[in-house]
Amino acid sequence: VDALTYDYIIVGGGTCGLVMANRLSQSGASSVLVIEAGSSVLNNSAVFDPTAYGAAFGSAIDWAFKTVPQAAADQKTHTLRAGKALGGTSTINGMSYVRAQSPQIDAWQQAGNTGWTWSSLWPYYLKSESFQAPSAVDMIQTHVTYSAAEHGYNGPVKVGWSVEQSNSTYPVILNETFQAVGLQWNTDTNGGDERGFSVYPLMVDRENNVREDAARAYYYPSAAKAKSLAVWLNTTANKILWKRGAPTASGVQVTFSNGSLAEVRAKKEVILSAGALISPILLERSGIGSPTILNKYGIDIVVDLPGVGEGLQDQVNNGLGYTIEGNFTANGSKTFVAYPTLSQLFSNDSEAYDSFISKVKSSLPAYASQVASRNNNATSAADLLTSFNMQYDLLVKFQVPAAELIFYTSGQTLQSQHWTLLPFSRGSVHITSATASPPNAAAAIDPQYFSFAPDVDVQVFVGEFNRLAFHTQPLSDLAGTEQSPGASTTSASQWSRWTKKNFRPNYHVMSSAAMLPRSKGGVVDPTGKVYGTNNVRVVDASIVPFQVCGHLTSTLYAVAERIADLMQQN
Ligand code: FAD
Repeated sequence: VDALTYDYIIVGGGTCGLVMANRLSQSGASSVLVIEAGSSVLNNSAVFDPTAYGAAFGSAIDWAFKTVPQAAADQKTHTLRAGKALGGTSTINGMSYVRAQSPQIDAWQQAGNTGWTWSSLWPYYLKSESFQAPSAVDMIQTHVTYSAAEHGYNGPVKVGWSVEQSNSTYPVILNETFQAVGLQWNTDTNGGDERGFSVYPLMVDRENNVREDAARAYYYPSAAKAKSLAVWLNTTANKILWKRGAPTASGVQVTFSNGSLAEVRAKKEVILSAGALISPILLERSGIGSPTILNKYGIDIVVDLPGVGEGLQDQVNNGLGYTIEGNFTANGSKTFVAYPTLSQLFSNDSEAYDSFISKVKSSLPAYASQVASRNNNATSAADLLTSFNMQYDLLVKFQVPAAELIFYTSGQTLQSQHWTLLPFSRGSVHITSATASPPNAAAAIDPQYFSFAPDVDVQVFVGEFNRLAFHTQPLSDLAGTEQSPGASTTSASQWSRWTKKNFRPNYHVMSSAAMLPRSKGGVVDPTGKVYGTNNVRVVDASIVPFQVCGHLTSTLYAVAERIADLMQQN
């Protein structure tokens, strides 16, 4: 092969990009090139040490994107972490392995994505997984349980409970506490129902006690040896290049680490897997997006697709902390998890619950109009309202989990974090330059945290529920002084001030190039193909149409596996 011509070019060797690279190069029939801005982190202890969560933040392998000042959250700017390495964000994430709640994936088909249901995605969850079942002794010591039928055993991604998770009474105490507030033990959070309290597994290679990131799972064991796969590290993609007069990609323009430019050709397709904050930027740089934005930067319009960069979603995270009464040590892992539903947040106060859900329902039309006018009607208010109502039904009719709470100890303190799983707030990400290199450096990232006012209320209810757990026996016997937010925070307005002032992004950014019908502001079709193009796909968190409960990576691996399969069936 010509060193500058490949069948497939994949931009971004991250979580999804390496699934695509592995599967498309597997048969040897097609040549595949991965362009990755970062380098290999196989020997970086901030990556492979499963206890080192956070050590990579702010280092060279963290893009550390900045948001624009958040208008509904004290005008503060926030940092969004994202991995710049072979393996992408899977090299710096929390490794939690939790799938979606089943009706959420069914909602993708309901929204117009034919073929995307929980049961069609299920085989791909299993295909990507290599479950390391705990031994009977481990199960007793770690208090974990699982359901054998809910797991895959032959896939690339090792999933299990790390050695650090052993021998603690903490999950027993938490389990009794959550039973007292109405949450039951969940045997396995990965079977499509996460509700209750549990100890979830991690993406970890238990035998070697190392993080199982996308490179360790999908690249090093097999793909690295494939003759049909090339990986260019430390190389940045700037934009897609087009054939004359047609929306057919001919290749990609790249910048090498020494600053020189090159054009690499794609015979079949260009696949963008640069992540939810970057793939839409690359589309805009390549002439695909809203004419209003492209014209502003003098970029020739290849496809008029105003949904590009719209619909960006994330979650918000706050933490509670207590001193420990007496002598108690537990391990540091953050895998003790509670998933309450919206009605469970209200305990037995059905009147307060009813009045809150009707407030949410009646606030949605005005918010849909607000988002539509902000995005220049890329998605109409009516279509936004339809998707907001679907999300409302998931929360109210299907009672999917409304929040996640995780518990751990740090020194002589008890800590927890909580986040609303399905906020309604929608933002955007767009270019601020036509020429900056890397293109990533020039983006206006605006998640619009808390722009839907009831999102603040829900995050406050979750915080109060979190405190309720610390005030319930047997956990209350361990919890001493509340350090965060502190006992003086009691009224709703105090909670909401504290919540907005102290939250951090939850780093589950997605949906910025959504898989939805084109008429509804969608950017890609149900095979990941960008509307209006002949051979460009997006396969990463950008295309996930609605936020999922659980954590994103398990679902992203399954989505990429399914798209790779669909491509090879055609
Ligand atoms: P990425 O994995 O980010 O891949 C994008 C790749 O593209 C990167 O390697 C990047 O360097 C590369 N790239 C970008 N621009 C260019 C360019 N112009 N040219 C070439 N290459 C480029 N999920 C979980 O399931 N469990 C967790 O515990 C969890 N914790 C998290 C903790 C943190 C701090 C963060 C940030 C995220 C966490 N997530 C977690 C979310 C999850 O990790 C991400 O949603 C997921 O990894 C995103 O995958 P992706 O394929 O969309 O993008």
